Amino acid sequence: MDYAYDDQNIFAKILRGEIPNTTVLETEHSLAFRDLYPQASVHVLVIPKGPYISYDHFAAAASDAEIVDFTRAVGEVCRLEGVSLDANDGFRLISNAGEHGVQEVPHLHVHILGGERMGRMVQPKG
Ligand code: AMP
Repeated sequence: MDYAYDDQNIFAKILRGEIPNTTVLETEHSLAFRDLYPQASVHVLVIPKGPYISYDHFAAAASDAEIVDFTRAVGEVCRLEGVSLDANDGFRLISNAGEHGVQEVPHLHVHILGGERMGRMVQPKG
């Protein structure tokens, strides 16, 4: 499979400012915003600003600076949202990829979920 990025995806439109978002954190290479349909009391998406579809695409093609920025942004959002393990009760980090991962938006994003105890990690297939 090649990594053909579709720049009409909804997160690309958010990055271009074409549709609104509720920003939690913006860094040089990353943006974190609240999920429109939260599945936990804390549900934040973190995306790189670059055109990457999935985590494997990002890991293969992004610069070291982008990868460091993104990783640090995830940690900073956990701290800002009060779910980090140093002082809080933890969180779940998920990144869906492709058809088998049931990825809806083809721009890399990680979900940070927390604020309550999560259910089973993998639900029955649907
Ligand atoms: P995934 O299934 O991993 O691709 O997740 C995509 C996520 O994007 C879902 O949790 C949606 O609720 C969320 N989402 C879709 N559109 C928006 C939007 N405009 N702003 C924020 N979150 C969105």
